[in-house]
Amino acid sequence: MSAKKANLSGELKKYFGFSTFKGQQEQIIENLLNGKDIFVLMPTGGGKSLCYQLPALISEGTAIVVSPLIALMKNQVDAVNGLSSDSGVAHVLNSSLNKTQTKQVFDDIKSGKTKLLYVAPESLIKEDYLDFLKEVKISFFAIDEAHCISEWGHDFRPEYRNLKSIIDKIADVPVIALTATATPKVQDDIQKTLGMTNALVFKESFNRPNLYYEVRPKVNVDKEIVKFINQNKGKSGIVYCLSRRKVEEFAQLLQVNGINALPYHAGLDQKVRVANQDKFLMEEVDVIVATIAFGMGIDKPDVRFVIHYDFPKSLESYYQETGRAGRDGGEGYCLAFYDPKDIEKLEKFLAQKPVSEREIGLQLLNEVVGYAETSMSRRQYILYYFGENFDPVNGDGAKMCDNSSNPPKLKDATEDLKKVLQLIKDTGEKFKAKDLISIIAGKETAVTKSYKLEQSSYFGFGKEEKDNHWKTILRQATVQNFLQKDIETYGVLKIAEKGKLVLDGKLEHSFLIAEDREFDLTQTKA
Ligand code: ADP
Repeated sequence: MSAKKANLSGELKKYFGFSTFKGQQEQIIENLLNGKDIFVLMPTGGGKSLCYQLPALISEGTAIVVSPLIALMKNQVDAVNGLSSDSGVAHVLNSSLNKTQTKQVFDDIKSGKTKLLYVAPESLIKEDYLDFLKEVKISFFAIDEAHCISEWGHDFRPEYRNLKSIIDKIADVPVIALTATATPKVQDDIQKTLGMTNALVFKESFNRPNLYYEVRPKVNVDKEIVKFINQNKGKSGIVYCLSRRKVEEFAQLLQVNGINALPYHAGLDQKVRVANQDKFLMEEVDVIVATIAFGMGIDKPDVRFVIHYDFPKSLESYYQETGRAGRDGGEGYCLAFYDPKDIEKLEKFLAQKPVSEREIGLQLLNEVVGYAETSMSRRQYILYYFGENFDPVNGDGAKMCDNSSNPPKLKDATEDLKKVLQLIKDTGEKFKAKDLISIIAGKETAVTKSYKLEQSSYFGFGKEEKDNHWKTILRQATVQNFLQKDIETYGVLKIAEKGKLVLDGKLEHSFLIAEDREFDLTQTKA
Protein backbone atom coordinates (compact mmCIF):
# COMPACT_ATOMS: atom_id res chain seq x y z
CA MET A 1 0.00 0.00 0.00
CA SER A 2 1.37 3.38 -0.90
CA ALA A 3 2.09 5.97 1.74
CA LYS A 4 -0.51 8.18 0.12
CA LYS A 5 -3.23 5.58 0.62
CA ALA A 6 -2.45 5.14 4.27
CA ASN A 7 -2.45 8.87 4.56
CA LEU A 8 -5.89 9.21 2.95
CA SER A 9 -7.36 6.85 5.54
CA GLY A 10 -5.78 8.99 8.23
CA GLU A 11 -7.34 12.13 6.78
CA LEU A 12 -10.70 10.39 6.52
CA LYS A 13 -10.55 9.51 10.19
CA LYS A 14 -9.30 12.93 11.14
CA TYR A 15 -11.94 14.98 9.35
CA PHE A 16 -14.95 12.67 9.12
CA GLY A 17 -14.35 10.17 11.89
CA PHE A 18 -14.94 7.22 9.52
CA SER A 19 -12.57 4.26 9.55
CA THR A 20 -13.18 3.04 6.01
CA PHE A 21 -14.12 4.48 2.67
CA LYS A 22 -17.50 3.68 1.20
CA GLY A 23 -17.68 2.09 -2.25
CA GLN A 24 -15.19 3.64 -4.63
CA GLN A 25 -14.57 6.84 -2.65
CA GLU A 26 -10.88 6.13 -2.15
CA GLN A 27 -10.06 5.52 -5.82
CA ILE A 28 -12.09 8.57 -6.78
CA ILE A 29 -10.22 10.81 -4.36
CA GLU A 30 -6.80 9.42 -5.28
CA ASN A 31 -7.42 10.01 -8.97
CA LEU A 32 -8.75 13.50 -8.41
CA LEU A 33 -5.68 14.37 -6.35
CA ASN A 34 -3.57 13.03 -9.21
CA GLY A 35 -5.13 15.57 -11.53
CA LYS A 36 -7.67 13.42 -13.39
CA ASP A 37 -11.14 14.55 -14.46
CA ILE A 38 -13.70 12.36 -12.76
CA PHE A 39 -17.32 11.48 -13.32
CA VAL A 40 -19.19 9.92 -10.40
CA LEU A 41 -22.57 8.22 -10.80
CA MET A 42 -23.80 7.07 -7.46
CA PRO A 43 -27.29 6.73 -6.07
CA THR A 44 -28.49 9.14 -3.40
CA GLY A 45 -26.93 8.26 -0.08
CA GLY A 46 -23.90 6.69 -1.76
CA GLY A 47 -21.49 9.18 -0.22
CA LYS A 48 -20.80 11.56 -3.09
CA SER A 49 -20.09 14.69 -1.05
CA LEU A 50 -17.06 13.17 0.65
CA CYS A 51 -15.50 12.51 -2.77
CA TYR A 52 -14.84 16.23 -3.17
CA GLN A 53 -14.94 17.45 0.43
CA LEU A 54 -12.02 15.36 1.62
CA PRO A 55 -9.68 16.20 -1.28
CA ALA A 56 -10.64 19.87 -0.95
CA LEU A 57 -9.75 19.87 2.73
CA ILE A 58 -6.30 18.42 2.10
CA SER A 59 -5.41 20.31 -1.10
CA GLU A 60 -3.70 23.61 -1.47
CA GLY A 61 -6.07 26.37 -2.59
CA THR A 62 -9.86 26.50 -2.82
CA ALA A 63 -12.16 23.98 -4.48
CA ILE A 64 -15.15 25.52 -6.25
CA VAL A 65 -18.32 23.50 -5.73
CA VAL A 66 -21.12 24.28 -8.15
CA SER A 67 -24.48 23.41 -6.67
CA PRO A 68 -27.98 24.27 -7.92
CA LEU A 69 -29.80 25.24 -4.74
CA ILE A 70 -28.89 27.85 -2.17
CA ALA A 71 -30.73 25.89 0.53
CA LEU A 72 -28.65 22.78 -0.22
CA MET A 73 -25.44 24.79 -0.12
CA LYS A 74 -26.18 26.13 3.34
CA ASN A 75 -26.67 22.62 4.74
CA GLN A 76 -23.47 21.41 3.14
CA VAL A 77 -21.43 24.37 4.31
CA ASP A 78 -22.67 23.93 7.88
CA ALA A 79 -21.86 20.24 7.74
CA VAL A 80 -18.30 20.82 6.47
CA ASN A 81 -17.65 23.58 8.97
CA GLY A 82 -18.75 21.23 11.71
CA LEU A 83 -16.05 18.74 10.68
CA SER A 84 -12.98 20.69 11.40
CA SER A 85 -11.81 22.33 14.60
CA ASP A 86 -10.57 25.08 12.36
CA SER A 87 -14.08 26.39 11.68
CA GLY A 88 -14.94 28.33 8.57
CA VAL A 89 -13.23 26.27 5.85
CA ALA A 90 -16.36 26.28 3.67
CA HIS A 91 -18.15 29.34 2.38
CA VAL A 92 -20.98 30.29 0.10
CA LEU A 93 -20.68 32.94 -2.56
CA ASN A 94 -23.99 34.20 -3.91
CA SER A 95 -26.29 37.14 -4.32
CA SER A 96 -27.64 36.81 -0.77
CA LEU A 97 -24.37 38.23 0.64
CA ASN A 98 -23.95 41.95 1.25
CA LYS A 99 -20.77 43.84 0.32
CA THR A 100 -19.03 43.32 3.67
CA GLN A 101 -19.82 39.60 3.68
CA THR A 102 -18.57 39.21 0.11
CA LYS A 103 -15.33 40.98 0.99
CA GLN A 104 -14.89 38.66 3.97
CA VAL A 105 -15.29 35.61 1.72
CA PHE A 106 -12.77 37.05 -0.76
CA ASP A 107 -10.31 37.70 2.07
CA ASP A 108 -10.69 34.18 3.41
CA ILE A 109 -10.03 32.73 -0.03
CA LYS A 110 -6.95 34.90 -0.52
CA SER A 111 -5.53 33.94 2.85
CA GLY A 112 -6.00 30.26 2.02
CA LYS A 113 -8.54 29.68 4.77
CA THR A 114 -11.41 28.72 2.44
CA LYS A 115 -11.07 25.14 1.26
CA LEU A 116 -14.53 24.80 -0.30
CA LEU A 117 -16.41 27.58 -2.02
CA TYR A 118 -20.04 26.78 -2.85
CA VAL A 119 -21.50 28.75 -5.75
CA ALA A 120 -24.58 28.62 -7.93
CA PRO A 121 -23.78 28.64 -11.67
CA GLU A 122 -25.54 31.96 -12.17
CA SER A 123 -23.22 33.55 -9.58
CA LEU A 124 -20.11 32.26 -11.30
CA ILE A 125 -20.73 34.35 -14.40
CA LYS A 126 -20.71 37.61 -12.45
CA GLU A 127 -17.87 39.72 -13.78
CA ASP A 128 -16.35 40.72 -10.41
CA TYR A 129 -16.48 37.14 -9.06
CA LEU A 130 -14.85 35.86 -12.24
CA ASP A 131 -12.10 38.46 -12.12
CA PHE A 132 -11.38 37.61 -8.53
CA LEU A 133 -11.42 33.83 -8.94
CA LYS A 134 -9.01 34.02 -11.90
CA GLU A 135 -6.38 35.46 -9.58
CA VAL A 136 -6.51 32.95 -6.73
CA LYS A 137 -5.38 29.37 -6.33
CA ILE A 138 -8.16 26.92 -7.27
CA SER A 139 -7.60 23.26 -6.40
CA PHE A 140 -10.39 21.77 -8.56
CA PHE A 141 -14.02 22.16 -9.61
CA ALA A 142 -16.77 19.93 -8.30
CA ILE A 143 -20.05 19.98 -10.24
CA ASP A 144 -22.70 18.62 -7.91
CA GLU A 145 -26.09 17.46 -9.25
CA ALA A 146 -24.44 17.42 -12.66
CA HIS A 147 -27.61 16.07 -14.34
CA CYS A 148 -28.92 19.65 -14.19
CA ILE A 149 -26.82 20.16 -17.34
CA SER A 150 -28.99 17.82 -19.37
CA GLU A 151 -32.45 18.39 -20.75
CA TRP A 152 -32.84 14.63 -20.40
CA GLY A 153 -32.33 14.85 -16.64
CA HIS A 154 -35.16 15.49 -14.23
CA ASP A 155 -34.02 18.91 -13.13
CA PHE A 156 -32.64 20.79 -16.11
CA ARG A 157 -31.08 24.20 -15.33
CA PRO A 158 -30.13 26.27 -18.36
CA GLU A 159 -27.41 28.06 -16.31
CA TYR A 160 -25.53 24.76 -16.05
CA ARG A 161 -24.99 24.58 -19.80
CA ASN A 162 -22.34 27.31 -19.88
CA LEU A 163 -20.27 25.91 -17.05
CA LYS A 164 -17.51 24.62 -19.28
CA SER A 165 -16.63 28.01 -20.72
CA ILE A 166 -16.73 29.63 -17.26
CA ILE A 167 -14.49 26.96 -15.77
CA ASP A 168 -12.04 27.40 -18.63
CA LYS A 169 -11.88 31.11 -17.93
CA ILE A 170 -11.12 30.62 -14.24
CA ALA A 171 -8.49 27.89 -14.07
CA ASP A 172 -7.01 24.86 -15.75
CA VAL A 173 -7.67 22.37 -12.96
CA PRO A 174 -9.39 18.97 -12.69
CA VAL A 175 -13.16 18.71 -12.71
CA ILE A 176 -15.21 16.20 -10.78
CA ALA A 177 -18.87 15.91 -11.83
CA LEU A 178 -21.31 14.03 -9.62
CA THR A 179 -24.89 12.90 -10.05
CA ALA A 180 -27.43 10.36 -8.89
CA THR A 181 -29.16 10.36 -12.27
CA ALA A 182 -27.48 7.97 -14.57
CA THR A 183 -29.40 7.14 -17.69
CA PRO A 184 -26.90 6.62 -20.50
CA LYS A 185 -28.42 9.61 -22.29
CA VAL A 186 -27.85 11.97 -19.35
CA GLN A 187 -24.36 10.61 -18.75
CA ASP A 188 -23.38 11.22 -22.34
CA ASP A 189 -24.84 14.71 -22.28
CA ILE A 190 -22.99 15.68 -19.10
CA GLN A 191 -19.64 14.44 -20.37
CA LYS A 192 -19.99 16.18 -23.71
CA THR A 193 -21.22 19.48 -22.28
CA LEU A 194 -18.49 19.60 -19.67
CA GLY A 195 -15.86 18.59 -22.21
CA MET A 196 -14.88 15.58 -20.15
CA THR A 197 -15.39 12.64 -22.46
CA ASN A 198 -12.01 11.36 -21.31
CA ALA A 199 -12.89 11.52 -17.63
CA LEU A 200 -12.53 8.46 -15.44
CA VAL A 201 -16.04 7.20 -14.81
CA PHE A 202 -16.97 5.67 -11.46
CA LYS A 203 -20.41 4.16 -11.54
CA GLU A 204 -22.05 2.35 -8.67
CA SER A 205 -25.09 0.15 -8.95
CA PHE A 206 -28.40 1.94 -8.64
CA ASN A 207 -30.07 -1.13 -7.29
CA ARG A 208 -31.82 -0.57 -3.98
CA PRO A 209 -32.58 -4.15 -2.99
CA ASN A 210 -34.56 -3.20 0.12
CA LEU A 211 -37.18 -1.23 -1.81
CA TYR A 212 -40.40 -2.97 -2.84
CA TYR A 213 -42.07 -1.59 -5.99
CA GLU A 214 -45.76 -1.87 -6.70
CA VAL A 215 -48.07 -0.19 -9.21
CA ARG A 216 -51.85 -0.26 -8.74
CA PRO A 217 -54.59 1.00 -11.02
CA LYS A 218 -55.79 4.38 -9.82
CA VAL A 219 -59.21 3.35 -8.63
CA ASN A 220 -60.60 4.42 -5.24
CA VAL A 221 -57.18 5.87 -4.69
CA ASP A 222 -58.12 7.92 -1.60
CA LYS A 223 -59.49 4.89 0.18
CA GLU A 224 -56.62 2.69 -0.89
CA ILE A 225 -54.03 5.09 0.47
CA VAL A 226 -55.86 5.62 3.77
CA LYS A 227 -56.08 1.85 4.14
CA PHE A 228 -52.40 1.40 3.35
CA ILE A 229 -51.32 4.08 5.83
CA ASN A 230 -53.57 2.66 8.53
CA GLN A 231 -51.96 -0.71 8.01
CA ASN A 232 -48.61 1.01 8.53
CA LYS A 233 -49.63 3.16 11.44
CA GLY A 234 -46.87 5.18 13.09
CA LYS A 235 -44.41 4.67 10.23
CA SER A 236 -42.87 7.60 8.38
CA GLY A 237 -44.00 8.09 4.81
CA ILE A 238 -44.32 10.53 1.93
CA VAL A 239 -47.27 10.86 -0.46
CA TYR A 240 -46.41 12.68 -3.69
CA CYS A 241 -49.08 14.51 -5.70
CA LEU A 242 -48.52 16.58 -8.84
CA SER A 243 -50.53 19.67 -7.92
CA ARG A 244 -50.46 21.92 -4.88
CA ARG A 245 -54.23 21.83 -4.67
CA LYS A 246 -54.23 18.04 -4.50
CA VAL A 247 -51.55 18.17 -1.80
CA GLU A 248 -53.72 20.41 0.37
CA GLU A 249 -56.90 18.43 -0.23
CA PHE A 250 -55.31 15.08 0.38
CA ALA A 251 -53.45 16.15 3.52
CA GLN A 252 -56.82 17.27 4.88
CA LEU A 253 -58.46 14.03 3.89
CA LEU A 254 -55.78 12.08 5.75
CA GLN A 255 -56.21 14.27 8.82
CA VAL A 256 -59.97 13.74 8.76
CA ASN A 257 -59.23 10.02 8.73
CA GLY A 258 -57.18 10.32 11.88
CA ILE A 259 -53.80 10.18 10.16
CA ASN A 260 -51.08 12.44 11.45
CA ALA A 261 -50.26 14.22 8.15
CA LEU A 262 -49.15 17.64 6.94
CA PRO A 263 -48.84 19.27 3.50
CA TYR A 264 -45.69 20.56 1.82
CA HIS A 265 -45.44 22.55 -1.42
CA ALA A 266 -43.69 25.62 -2.74
CA GLY A 267 -46.85 27.74 -2.50
CA LEU A 268 -47.02 27.48 1.28
CA ASP A 269 -45.67 30.25 3.41
CA GLN A 270 -41.95 29.70 3.99
CA LYS A 271 -42.43 29.43 7.77
CA VAL A 272 -45.18 26.82 7.45
CA ARG A 273 -43.14 24.86 4.96
CA VAL A 274 -40.06 24.73 7.15
CA ALA A 275 -42.17 23.95 10.23
CA ASN A 276 -43.91 21.06 8.45
CA GLN A 277 -40.65 19.67 7.18
CA ASP A 278 -39.08 19.89 10.63
CA LYS A 279 -42.05 18.14 12.23
CA PHE A 280 -41.62 15.31 9.76
CA LEU A 281 -37.89 15.08 10.44
CA MET A 282 -38.47 15.22 14.20
CA GLU A 283 -41.16 12.51 13.99
CA GLU A 284 -43.93 14.75 15.29
CA VAL A 285 -45.82 13.96 12.14
CA ASP A 286 -45.94 10.60 10.36
CA VAL A 287 -46.88 11.48 6.82
CA ILE A 288 -45.99 14.37 4.60
CA VAL A 289 -48.17 14.98 1.54
CA ALA A 290 -46.03 16.86 -0.95
CA THR A 291 -45.27 18.04 -4.42
CA ILE A 292 -41.84 17.37 -5.88
CA ALA A 293 -40.67 20.50 -4.03
CA PHE A 294 -40.18 18.19 -1.06
CA GLY A 295 -37.19 15.95 -0.75
CA MET A 296 -34.06 17.35 -2.36
CA GLY A 297 -31.38 17.28 0.29
CA ILE A 298 -33.65 15.73 2.92
CA ASP A 299 -31.91 12.91 4.68
CA LYS A 300 -34.42 11.05 6.84
CA PRO A 301 -33.12 7.50 7.02
CA ASP A 302 -36.28 5.72 8.18
CA VAL A 303 -38.92 6.74 5.62
CA ARG A 304 -40.85 3.45 5.37
CA PHE A 305 -43.06 4.20 2.36
CA VAL A 306 -43.27 6.54 -0.61
CA ILE A 307 -46.66 6.66 -2.30
CA HIS A 308 -47.28 8.29 -5.65
CA TYR A 309 -50.85 9.53 -5.83
CA ASP A 310 -49.90 10.69 -9.33
CA PHE A 311 -47.12 9.30 -11.50
CA PRO A 312 -44.27 11.74 -12.08
CA LYS A 313 -43.16 12.93 -15.51
CA SER A 314 -40.14 10.70 -15.82
CA LEU A 315 -38.66 7.51 -14.44
CA GLU A 316 -35.68 9.47 -13.11
CA SER A 317 -38.01 11.52 -10.96
CA TYR A 318 -39.77 8.36 -9.87
CA TYR A 319 -36.49 6.74 -8.92
CA GLN A 320 -35.32 9.85 -7.04
CA GLU A 321 -38.57 10.16 -5.15
CA THR A 322 -38.88 6.49 -4.25
CA GLY A 323 -35.18 6.58 -3.34
CA ARG A 324 -36.12 8.54 -0.22
CA ALA A 325 -37.59 5.37 1.27
CA GLY A 326 -35.49 2.95 3.29
CA ARG A 327 -32.24 4.87 3.24
CA ASP A 328 -31.18 3.08 6.42
CA GLY A 329 -31.38 -0.21 4.51
CA GLY A 330 -34.64 -1.17 6.24
CA GLU A 331 -38.09 -1.65 4.74
CA GLY A 332 -39.09 0.78 2.00
CA TYR A 333 -42.43 0.31 0.21
CA CYS A 334 -42.88 2.22 -3.06
CA LEU A 335 -46.48 2.26 -4.19
CA ALA A 336 -47.63 4.16 -7.26
CA PHE A 337 -51.14 4.68 -8.60
CA TYR A 338 -51.43 4.69 -12.34
CA ASP A 339 -54.12 5.96 -14.64
CA PRO A 340 -53.36 6.37 -18.36
CA LYS A 341 -55.59 9.45 -18.35
CA ASP A 342 -53.13 11.21 -16.05
CA ILE A 343 -50.46 10.64 -18.66
CA GLU A 344 -52.72 12.04 -21.37
CA LYS A 345 -53.12 15.18 -19.28
CA LEU A 346 -49.37 15.53 -19.00
CA GLU A 347 -49.08 15.03 -22.75
CA LYS A 348 -51.60 17.78 -23.37
CA PHE A 349 -49.61 20.03 -21.12
CA LEU A 350 -46.51 19.33 -23.21
CA ALA A 351 -48.34 20.42 -26.35
CA GLN A 352 -47.78 24.05 -25.34
CA LYS A 353 -44.02 23.62 -25.07
CA PRO A 354 -41.36 24.15 -27.76
CA VAL A 355 -40.81 21.16 -30.04
CA SER A 356 -37.52 19.94 -28.52
CA GLU A 357 -38.92 20.01 -25.02
CA ARG A 358 -42.06 18.28 -26.22
CA GLU A 359 -40.09 15.53 -27.89
CA ILE A 360 -38.06 14.84 -24.77
CA GLY A 361 -41.12 15.11 -22.54
CA LEU A 362 -43.07 12.60 -24.64
CA GLN A 363 -40.27 10.09 -24.67
CA LEU A 364 -39.83 10.35 -20.92
CA LEU A 365 -43.58 9.85 -20.45
CA ASN A 366 -43.47 6.87 -22.74
CA GLU A 367 -40.95 5.27 -20.40
CA VAL A 368 -43.23 5.98 -17.45
CA VAL A 369 -46.11 4.20 -19.20
CA GLY A 370 -43.75 1.36 -20.04
CA TYR A 371 -42.78 0.99 -16.43
CA ALA A 372 -46.31 1.28 -15.10
CA GLU A 373 -47.67 -1.33 -17.49
CA THR A 374 -44.75 -3.69 -17.64
CA SER A 375 -45.19 -7.29 -16.64
CA MET A 376 -41.47 -7.80 -16.07
CA SER A 377 -39.49 -7.28 -12.88
CA ARG A 378 -39.86 -3.59 -12.04
CA ARG A 379 -36.36 -3.53 -10.62
CA GLN A 380 -35.04 -4.94 -13.89
CA TYR A 381 -37.00 -2.32 -15.84
CA ILE A 382 -35.70 0.62 -13.81
CA LEU A 383 -32.12 -0.61 -13.76
CA TYR A 384 -32.17 -1.24 -17.48
CA TYR A 385 -33.28 2.35 -17.87
CA PHE A 386 -30.20 3.35 -15.90
CA GLY A 387 -28.00 1.27 -18.18
CA GLU A 388 -27.62 -1.70 -15.82
CA ASN A 389 -28.39 -5.36 -16.37
CA PHE A 390 -30.28 -7.01 -13.55
CA ASP A 391 -30.95 -10.70 -13.14
CA PRO A 392 -34.67 -10.89 -12.26
CA VAL A 393 -34.30 -14.37 -10.79
CA ASN A 394 -31.13 -14.25 -8.71
CA GLY A 395 -30.33 -10.54 -8.50
CA ASP A 396 -30.28 -8.78 -5.15
CA GLY A 397 -33.89 -7.87 -4.38
CA ALA A 398 -35.25 -10.01 -7.22
CA LYS A 399 -38.54 -10.83 -5.51
CA MET A 400 -39.15 -7.28 -4.28
CA CYS A 401 -41.90 -6.12 -6.62
CA ASP A 402 -45.49 -6.94 -7.45
CA ASN A 403 -44.65 -8.49 -10.82
CA SER A 404 -42.01 -10.78 -9.34
CA SER A 405 -43.89 -11.87 -6.25
CA ASN A 406 -47.20 -12.21 -8.07
CA PRO A 407 -46.55 -12.53 -11.82
CA PRO A 408 -49.36 -11.29 -14.07
CA LYS A 409 -50.96 -13.62 -16.58
CA LEU A 410 -49.64 -12.93 -20.04
CA LYS A 411 -51.56 -13.21 -23.25
CA ASP A 412 -50.17 -13.38 -26.77
CA ALA A 413 -51.73 -10.49 -28.70
CA THR A 414 -49.58 -10.66 -31.83
CA GLU A 415 -52.57 -11.09 -34.15
CA ASP A 416 -54.29 -8.05 -32.67
CA LEU A 417 -51.11 -6.03 -33.02
CA LYS A 418 -50.99 -6.91 -36.73
CA LYS A 419 -54.63 -5.87 -37.18
CA VAL A 420 -54.01 -2.54 -35.53
CA LEU A 421 -50.86 -1.87 -37.58
CA GLN A 422 -52.73 -2.67 -40.75
CA LEU A 423 -55.58 -0.36 -39.77
CA ILE A 424 -53.18 2.51 -39.09
CA LYS A 425 -51.40 1.95 -42.38
CA ASP A 426 -54.59 1.76 -44.44
CA THR A 427 -56.09 4.86 -42.85
CA GLY A 428 -53.01 6.90 -43.67
CA GLU A 429 -51.41 7.31 -40.22
CA LYS A 430 -53.50 10.29 -39.28
CA PHE A 431 -55.45 9.31 -36.17
CA LYS A 432 -54.85 9.56 -32.49
CA ALA A 433 -55.40 6.62 -30.15
CA LYS A 434 -58.85 7.84 -29.15
CA ASP A 435 -60.08 7.92 -32.77
CA LEU A 436 -58.53 4.57 -33.59
CA ILE A 437 -60.40 3.06 -30.65
CA SER A 438 -63.66 4.52 -31.98
CA ILE A 439 -62.99 2.92 -35.36
CA ILE A 440 -62.07 -0.44 -33.86
CA ALA A 441 -65.04 -0.46 -31.49
CA GLY A 442 -67.40 0.84 -34.17
CA LYS A 443 -68.48 3.98 -32.34
CA GLU A 444 -69.63 6.92 -34.41
CA THR A 445 -67.93 10.20 -33.59
CA ALA A 446 -67.47 13.52 -35.38
CA VAL A 447 -64.12 12.25 -36.65
CA THR A 448 -65.38 8.90 -37.93
CA LYS A 449 -68.26 10.67 -39.67
CA SER A 450 -66.11 13.30 -41.31
CA TYR A 451 -63.91 10.59 -42.81
CA LYS A 452 -66.92 8.38 -43.61
CA LEU A 453 -65.25 5.55 -41.77
CA GLU A 454 -68.55 3.90 -40.90
CA GLN A 455 -68.58 2.45 -44.40
CA SER A 456 -65.11 0.98 -44.22
CA SER A 457 -64.57 -2.70 -43.58
CA TYR A 458 -62.60 -1.86 -40.45
CA PHE A 459 -65.37 -0.18 -38.64
CA GLY A 460 -66.14 -2.16 -35.50
CA PHE A 461 -63.79 -5.07 -36.23
CA GLY A 462 -62.84 -5.29 -32.57
CA LYS A 463 -66.14 -4.60 -30.87
CA GLU A 464 -66.24 -8.02 -29.24
CA GLU A 465 -63.35 -7.01 -26.99
CA LYS A 466 -63.45 -4.29 -24.34
CA ASP A 467 -62.09 -0.89 -25.32
CA ASN A 468 -59.46 -1.43 -22.67
CA HIS A 469 -57.99 -4.33 -24.54
CA TRP A 470 -57.39 -2.13 -27.58
CA LYS A 471 -56.11 0.74 -25.52
CA THR A 472 -53.60 -1.58 -23.93
CA ILE A 473 -52.56 -2.83 -27.37
CA LEU A 474 -52.02 0.72 -28.64
CA ARG A 475 -50.09 1.80 -25.54
CA GLN A 476 -47.98 -1.32 -25.45
CA ALA A 477 -47.29 -1.10 -29.18
CA THR A 478 -46.02 2.42 -28.55
CA VAL A 479 -43.98 1.48 -25.51
CA GLN A 480 -42.45 -1.45 -27.37
CA ASN A 481 -41.64 0.77 -30.37
CA PHE A 482 -43.97 -0.72 -32.96
CA LEU A 483 -45.75 2.62 -33.08
CA GLN A 484 -44.60 6.11 -32.34
CA LYS A 485 -46.45 9.21 -31.33
CA ASP A 486 -46.03 12.11 -33.68
CA ILE A 487 -44.35 15.05 -32.00
CA GLU A 488 -45.94 17.88 -33.96
CA THR A 489 -49.46 16.71 -33.28
CA TYR A 490 -48.35 15.06 -30.03
CA GLY A 491 -50.84 12.27 -30.36
CA VAL A 492 -51.17 10.94 -33.90
CA LEU A 493 -49.93 7.35 -34.02
CA LYS A 494 -47.52 6.46 -36.81
CA ILE A 495 -45.92 3.15 -37.64
CA ALA A 496 -42.34 2.89 -36.41
CA GLU A 497 -39.58 0.91 -38.17
CA LYS A 498 -40.23 -2.15 -36.05
CA GLY A 499 -43.93 -1.97 -36.88
CA LYS A 500 -43.17 -1.79 -40.62
CA LEU A 501 -41.07 -4.93 -40.34
CA VAL A 502 -43.97 -6.75 -38.71
CA LEU A 503 -46.34 -5.62 -41.47
CA ASP A 504 -43.89 -6.76 -44.16
CA GLY A 505 -43.63 -10.14 -42.46
CA LYS A 506 -39.94 -9.58 -41.82
CA LEU A 507 -40.14 -9.64 -38.06
CA GLU A 508 -41.70 -12.51 -36.21
CA HIS A 509 -42.22 -11.10 -32.80
CA SER A 510 -44.58 -12.32 -30.17
CA PHE A 511 -46.36 -9.45 -28.58
CA LEU A 512 -47.33 -10.18 -25.00
CA ILE A 513 -49.64 -8.13 -22.85
CA ALA A 514 -50.70 -8.51 -19.22
CA GLU A 515 -54.41 -8.86 -19.70
CA ASP A 516 -55.38 -8.98 -16.04
CA ARG A 517 -53.82 -5.62 -15.32
CA GLU A 518 -56.54 -3.28 -16.44
CA PHE A 519 -55.52 0.24 -15.75
CA ASP A 520 -58.45 2.03 -17.25
CA LEU A 521 -61.23 0.66 -15.07
CA THR A 522 -63.21 3.87 -14.81
CA GLN A 523 -63.52 3.92 -18.57
CA THR A 524 -64.77 0.34 -18.74
CA LYS A 525 -67.47 0.93 -16.16
CA ALA A 526 -68.79 4.02 -17.93
P1 ADP B 1 -25.02 11.50 -1.53
O1 ADP B 1 -24.53 12.91 -1.73
O2 ADP B 1 -24.39 10.52 -2.47
O3 ADP B 1 -26.51 11.39 -1.48
P2 ADP B 1 -23.95 11.83 1.07
O4 ADP B 1 -22.67 12.43 0.68
O5 ADP B 1 -25.00 12.71 1.61
O6 ADP B 1 -24.53 11.00 -0.13
O7 ADP B 1 -23.64 10.66 2.08
C1 ADP B 1 -24.66 9.83 2.58
C2 ADP B 1 -24.36 9.40 3.99
O8 ADP B 1 -23.23 8.51 4.02
C3 ADP B 1 -23.99 10.57 4.89
O9 ADP B 1 -24.68 10.42 6.11
C4 ADP B 1 -22.49 10.44 5.05
O10 ADP B 1 -22.05 10.97 6.30
C5 ADP B 1 -22.30 8.93 4.99
N1 ADP B 1 -20.94 8.55 4.55
C6 ADP B 1 -20.27 9.02 3.48
N2 ADP B 1 -19.05 8.44 3.38
C7 ADP B 1 -18.95 7.56 4.39
C8 ADP B 1 -17.93 6.64 4.85
N3 ADP B 1 -16.78 6.50 4.20
N4 ADP B 1 -18.21 5.90 5.94
C9 ADP B 1 -19.38 6.01 6.60
N5 ADP B 1 -20.37 6.85 6.24
C10 ADP B 1 -20.18 7.63 5.15
